[in-house]
Amino acid sequence: MNYYSTNNPAHQVDLKEAVIKGLAPDQGLYMPERIPLLPETFFDRLPELSFREMGYEIVEALFAEDLNSEQIKALVDHTLSFDAPLVKVEENVYALELFHGPTLAFKDFGARFCSSLMSMLQEKRELKVLVATSGDTGSAVANGFFGVEGVEVIILYPSGKVSELQEKQFTTLGGNIRAIEVAGVFDDCQKMVKQAFLDPELNQHMLLTSANSINIARWIPQCLYYFYAYSRLPEKDKKLVFSVPSGNFGNLAAGILAERMGLPVANFVAATNINKVVPDYLQGEEFLAKPSLQTISNSMDVGNPSNFYRLLALFGNDAARLREKVKGCFYTDEMTRQSMQEVRAQTGYTMDPHGAVAYLGLKDFMATDPYAYTGIFLETAHPGKFRNVVEETLSIELELPDRLQAFLEKDKKVESMENDYQAFKQYLLSRRKPVNN
Ligand SMILES: *Cc1c(COP(=O)(O)O)cnc(C)c1O
Repeated sequence: MNYYSTNNPAHQVDLKEAVIKGLAPDQGLYMPERIPLLPETFFDRLPELSFREMGYEIVEALFAEDLNSEQIKALVDHTLSFDAPLVKVEENVYALELFHGPTLAFKDFGARFCSSLMSMLQEKRELKVLVATSGDTGSAVANGFFGVEGVEVIILYPSGKVSELQEKQFTTLGGNIRAIEVAGVFDDCQKMVKQAFLDPELNQHMLLTSANSINIARWIPQCLYYFYAYSRLPEKDKKLVFSVPSGNFGNLAAGILAERMGLPVANFVAATNINKVVPDYLQGEEFLAKPSLQTISNSMDVGNPSNFYRLLALFGNDAARLREKVKGCFYTDEMTRQSMQEVRAQTGYTMDPHGAVAYLGLKDFMATDPYAYTGIFLETAHPGKFRNVVEETLSIELELPDRLQAFLEKDKKVESMENDYQAFKQYLLSRRKPVNN
């Protein structure tokens, strides 16, 4: 299978190049040249298949030309090593809980698939994944790549500007995960990483890559849990709608990929906070990136969503078709908090702020035709990840899951560095391994 750039469909590369490069040279996003349609018999069998069993078949449909069945099995087993339960919240409304992985957020799925695939595609040379993080990406990537052979991860983060819990999630692992705290801000870390990618001397000595969120190896596997959610729905007599709390819109685009592969989804809801450039676009306005605004659902504080052109590409760049299928909506922090309180009072279910935004979008959409729909909203993070907001909004005390608590008890292992590219470069050169051929 080849992958084309959304900026130029004639520019095509193979799987390995798309994954190692991440972004096309023309800054476009890679897309599979073909989207396979799964046979009806697959959908009939779905309720009897485990998450992994359906994963093998879906991944095979997408990657069979490039990976053998052993590789596909290893890839899926590593990715789907925790469950994604579908929890009934009220009549016809379900939460798909995507937060049962090591860092308690749905990004664990993409990060685990990405690490495993990179390790398979890398041949003789060790791959170095460079990550600049302000918190969340570092923890998902570190835990996804931990212990993966042939890949070393180097994480740069601004010293003192990351929450203790986040910091512990990527500084305590050791092994193939290294963390560097930089005396600077996030943008300084980002700059050092970008400069390293462009440095000819470094590239001569080592294979550098980025594992960022637009990489197809992080994007594509997110389609898997849409199939799983559908398979676990007890009743399938109504039209199905998914509501996705969105920032960069990768998760939503993966849901649409599942639909393109044959999953019967009537509509998607693109739910956001006040960073609403996509809902505005879906209402008929131009796509116009804006500076991001801070909210309590801060993983969605994105003013220039990087997967927007992927959404369009999935509809053959036909805005009318996109607007027909995907309904946009946005909510303020006040509405989000109120919805967290109401759902907790009426059903006992505790939502994190991102899930609450999706819940609101789902309910508003379903109200347009009562009784017609079964709705699923994606719970993208464990409420404990946003502990302060959740505890303050609901006047409760949350218990942190054991695996999160365990991080807090470990000691951090980091290198400290000045905000100085030459120091970073010397560090990287000192860590190079001889090329064995
Ligand atoms: C990253 C993130 C999102 C947004 O996902 P996109 O794929 O960027 O739209 C939503 N919720 C949580 C908790 C996240 O970490």
